[in-house]
Amino acid sequence: MAALTFYICYIGARPINRSWMQPQEHILLKDFTTFRIGGPARYFVAVKNTEELREAIQFAHSKQLPIFVLGGGSNVLISDKGFPGLVIKIEIKGIEYKEREGEDVEVIVGAGENWDDAVGHIVSRGLSGLENLSLIPGSVGAAPVQNIGAYGAEVKDTISWVEVFNTETYTLEQCSKEQCQFDYRDSIFKKPEGKKYVITRVGFKLSKKPNVNITYKDISNYISEHKVEDLSIQKIRDIVIEIRTKKLPNLKEYGTAGSFFKNPVVLKEQYDELVKKYSGLPGFTGASHGDVKIPAAWILDTLCNFKGYRDGDAGVYKNQALVLVNFGSATAEDISSLSEKMIACVKEKTSITLEKEVQIIF
Ligand SMILES: Cc1cc2nc3c(=O)[nH]c(=O)nc-3n(C[C@H](O)[C@H](O)[C@H](O)COP(=O)(O)OP(=O)(O)OC[C@H]3O[C@@H](n4cnc5c(N)ncnc54)[C@H](O)[C@@H]3O)c2cc1C
Repeated sequence: MAALTFYICYIGARPINRSWMQPQEHILLKDFTTFRIGGPARYFVAVKNTEELREAIQFAHSKQLPIFVLGGGSNVLISDKGFPGLVIKIEIKGIEYKEREGEDVEVIVGAGENWDDAVGHIVSRGLSGLENLSLIPGSVGAAPVQNIGAYGAEVKDTISWVEVFNTETYTLEQCSKEQCQFDYRDSIFKKPEGKKYVITRVGFKLSKKPNVNITYKDISNYISEHKVEDLSIQKIRDIVIEIRTKKLPNLKEYGTAGSFFKNPVVLKEQYDELVKKYSGLPGFTGASHGDVKIPAAWILDTLCNFKGYRDGDAGVYKNQALVLVNFGSATAEDISSLSEKMIACVKEKTSITLEKEVQIIF
C-alpha cells in the first residue's frame, strides 16, 4: 500500500495533541452496540483525529493490550465478559467534495461520520451512487470492512480508496480498491493481514449524473405499485428508507445487529440437488464463478420455522428470519446459542454451513 507522505510528516511533526483524553476504565460496551449487549472494556477511548488515534495505539502497545476498533456497534456481538484491552471508538469527522473530470466528484468522508447522515448529505448535493445504501446503521469507516450492501448495490462499486492507519508502522496509508480485496460482505479488513489497519477516511467516486439503480425487486415493485414517475436519486433514497423502515426492526424498540448470517453461496450442482428436494428454493446466479447465492432467510423460515421464534429474551425477528433480536435482557451467550441452533438446523436440512455476518467478540 502506498504511504501518504504528507500525513506521515504531519503526524510525526506535530506535538502531542492537548485534547488527547486518557482512556476511561471499565466502560460498559452494551451502551455502544445496537444489540445492547457487551460487558466492560478494560479501557475505552474515543478518537477525533489521527493524532489521537496514534496516541491511543501507543497507549495500548505500551501496556501490551489488544485493540478493538469500534464504529457504531451495529455489526458486533460482544461477550458479556467485555473486552480485556483497549476499545477505540472512531469519531473522525469531515466530508469533502472535489470536482473531478466530467461528471465525476470525489467525496472524502471521515470514518467516524454516521453512514446514513453522510449518504443523506451526498444525495442532497445531487450525487449518485450511494442512495440504494440509505438507512444502513453504523459509521462510514465500517462500510468497507464488510463491503456493505443492500437493494442491489454494494459500497465497493463507489469506493476509490480507503485511508488506513497502520498500527504496526504508525503511518497513514492509502489502500486502493484492489488492495481492499472486496467481496460479498468481505474485505481485507476482516482478514488477519488486514487487522493491523484502522480506517480513517474513505474516498468515493460519485457522479453528478443521476444513474438510478432500480434493478432490485422491492424497488421496482414499489415504483410500479405507486406509479412513481420522478426517478431522482432523492426519490430512490426515500423509497429505500420507506421499505427498510417497514421491513427491519426499529432500533429504539429492539436490540439487533441486522442480518446475523451471510447468504450462502453454493456450487450450481449442489443447488440443483437441493431444488430437487425443496422445490421453490430460491437461488440467484451471478455470484462469483457461476455459483448460486441462496437466501438464508428462506431456509431459516421455510425449512426451519425460525421466523418469530423466541427463546427467553433472545429471538428471531417476526418479519425476517435472518435478523436476531435481543428483546430485553438477552446475553451474548443467549444470542450465540440461538445462532448455533439455527446453524445446526440449516446444516441438517441442506448440508450448508451458515457463516455469521456479525463480528463475534468473545
Ligand atoms: C437494523 C440493521 C440493519 C442493517 N442492514 C444492513 C444492510 O442492509 N447491509 C449491510 O451490509 N449491513 C447491514 N447492517 C450491518 C451494519 O449496519 C453494517 O455492517 C455497518 O457497516 C456496521 O457499522 P458500525 O460502524 O456499526 O460497525 P461496528 O459494528 O462498530 O464494527 C463492525 C466491524 O468493523 C470494524 N470497524 C469498525 N470501524 C472500523 C474502522 N474505522 N477501521 C477498521 N475497522 C473498523 C470493527 O472492528 C468490527 O469488526 C445492519 C445492521 C442493523 C442493526
